[in-house]
Amino acid sequence: NRRIVLASRPEGRPTPADFRIEDVAAPEPREGELLLKVLYLSLDPYMRGRMSAAKSYAPPVELGAVMVGGTVARVVRSRHPDYAEGDFVFSYSGWQSYALSKGEGLRKLDPAAAPLSTALGVLGMPGFTAYAGLLTIGRPQPGETVVVAAASGPVGATVGQLARIKGARAVGIAGGPEKCAYVRDTLGFDAVVDHRAPDFAERLKEACPKGVDVYFENVGGAVWDAVFPLFNEFARIPVCGLIAQYNSTGPFEGPDRLPIVMRDVLSKSLTLRGFIQREFVSQLPDFYRDMSAWIREGRVRYREDIVEGLDRAPEAFIGLLDGRNFGKLVVKVDES
Ligand code: NDP
Repeated sequence: NRRIVLASRPEGRPTPADFRIEDVAAPEPREGELLLKVLYLSLDPYMRGRMSAAKSYAPPVELGAVMVGGTVARVVRSRHPDYAEGDFVFSYSGWQSYALSKGEGLRKLDPAAAPLSTALGVLGMPGFTAYAGLLTIGRPQPGETVVVAAASGPVGATVGQLARIKGARAVGIAGGPEKCAYVRDTLGFDAVVDHRAPDFAERLKEACPKGVDVYFENVGGAVWDAVFPLFNEFARIPVCGLIAQYNSTGPFEGPDRLPIVMRDVLSKSLTLRGFIQREFVSQLPDFYRDMSAWIREGRVRYREDIVEGLDRAPEAFIGLLDGRNFGKLVVKVDES
């Protein structure tokens, strides 16, 4: 059993030395337990938070402990009444090739219904984040303008496509020409702007001639600064992620923006609402029903960036925080 543990807490950007690969004996299931063989491991931005000891909405990974993460796994041995060998499940078994489970937190997956890896992306936590955050907090109306960054990733891509399903105009922000072309031509966003372009703020303004009614915040930093002046009265801002600052060691650069932000929150009656997707668990059945149908009908598309081999997880994860992934980042740990 190969596993990747947290070796040290990063200062700023993580490095490969913050992770350690270990080989240990494969665990044996006891009565009531099952043994999982991991096929796919999800890599997600939130894992940067777990590497840090700072207080957050979830406890940090302890030094020397296996890195946390969602996986798709196959049951290879079962001493649990509800699971049989050969079942496929979603699990939070982390960065390792085998794991024991008592069945808690598992969800059975049907490989005939959708490719198994989608349980980590469009039909999993990131897709659900987009669904719950946009529809519950953003509430896009026909004709309104919805802006989202990290628009080629699993959350942003889904947000823009759902905005269009609801009759709104979707404006994406992405890094580089290849991602921008994908967001516009394959995902069908109405407009896309490259946040790395020197005239990014100007281009974004041109792409939003009627202002911004919903800004689904995935990024923070310079992207926030460019979107902020464009808010219309009563704009809704689901605050989902701030990836631009996950590696920062503070204090934050630039002038204090708080007085200006507060002035517009008041004078434009803005709604800023942070959320962690699990708050909306009661919507999961609706999500599975709606999202499966939209994918089947071709109304929601998705892209995966699949990296081969557990050993490559650290470098792939470090790249995610720099925007080097193109689509939902997944590690293929084993074939079957
Ligand atoms: P992605 O696969 O989209 O990967 C992150 C992307 O962020 C990168 O590919 C890059 O895209 C972009 N990015 C990174 N740094 C910057 C920067 N400085 N400025 C602008 N863009 C940057 O990730 P996800 O779709 O999985 O997650 C998107 C966001 O949603 C994250 O902030 C994540 O933390 C958050 N999230 C929140 C949840 C919640 O419950 N609140 C749950 C799940 C995710 P590009 O090259 O296009 O810039």
